[in-house]
Amino acid sequence: MNNFGYTRASDVADAVRQIAADPAAKFIAGGTNLIDLMKENVARPSRLIDITHLPLNKVEETKDGGLRIGALVPNSDLSYHPQIEARYPLLASAILAGASQQLRNMASTGGNLLQRTRCFYFYDTTTPCNKREPGSGCSAIEGINRGHAILGTSKHCIATHPSDMCVALAALEACVLATGKDGERSIKFADFHRLPDDTPNIDTNLRSDEIITAIKLPPKGFAANYSYLKIRDRLSYAFALVSIAVGLDIADGTIKEARLALGGVAHKPWRNHEAEAQLSGAPATRETFMRAAEIELARRGILRTLTQAARGTPQSQADKRIK
Ligand code: SF4
Repeated sequence: MNNFGYTRASDVADAVRQIAADPAAKFIAGGTNLIDLMKENVARPSRLIDITHLPLNKVEETKDGGLRIGALVPNSDLSYHPQIEARYPLLASAILAGASQQLRNMASTGGNLLQRTRCFYFYDTTTPCNKREPGSGCSAIEGINRGHAILGTSKHCIATHPSDMCVALAALEACVLATGKDGERSIKFADFHRLPDDTPNIDTNLRSDEIITAIKLPPKGFAANYSYLKIRDRLSYAFALVSIAVGLDIADGTIKEARLALGGVAHKPWRNHEAEAQLSGAPATRETFMRAAEIELARRGILRTLTQAARGTPQSQADKRIK
């Protein structure tokens, strides 16, 4: 680990000022990914700007009937928050599918969005990796890549985004609120994370002098018919080989609106608009679900998740066995 400085931000404006003055610095909140990256010498910030004392730890109702989730709300608190459990259980379920209780206690909402890929070559500084060192090559393309991306890849990087929470946020059409020197702006969740293209070192469209302050959820939470299914190598603690977030709005047996997002298959949470279009207006039946589950690798997972959501028997994250 290299030497680094440490300062504490007194408010959001101070945090923005500090990061703008030192682009090699990094914000630290829970540190559940950043400290690992520093220990492995993958991240070498000049300074850590501690943002844990900023007033960004509330879940508040918005005027339009949605929720505003402060960037520092711990993942555990969010998953067990009464409003999230009642109105956005898809989000609660996805959070509980990720990491371990100890990590969720530390990890922040904003940090979850910014966690970096778990591609093992990215963490191994003896190997070429375009994400860690642009222009050095990609060890995974001809290497061990069973858990890598199959959608939206480039010849420069085939890494996946590791978050479970973000898959649910993509399905729910959340927005990311970020503050920079020009004030606060709202970024649609679909536009927040990037595909690798020829700059896989840049994960998101957040500007270097901006701080995430909140996530905004729209009013619609698909609380009656939802499921988050995660397929992984072991139930206790592992990143997704594929995960599926489904929210259905069903009336009289017909799907009025469908949301379907995949995790573990791309550089960003992957909304499947084609499948959603096939589902909308169709009867909530196995035949409909089979037609929508086109992607070979995820077919059985999508079919199972749609069935769980339609039946109102979402995947349990306490007993993670798939039934
Ligand atoms: Fe690096 Fe991306 Fe290749 Fe992994 S897949 S080695 S992160 S460039």
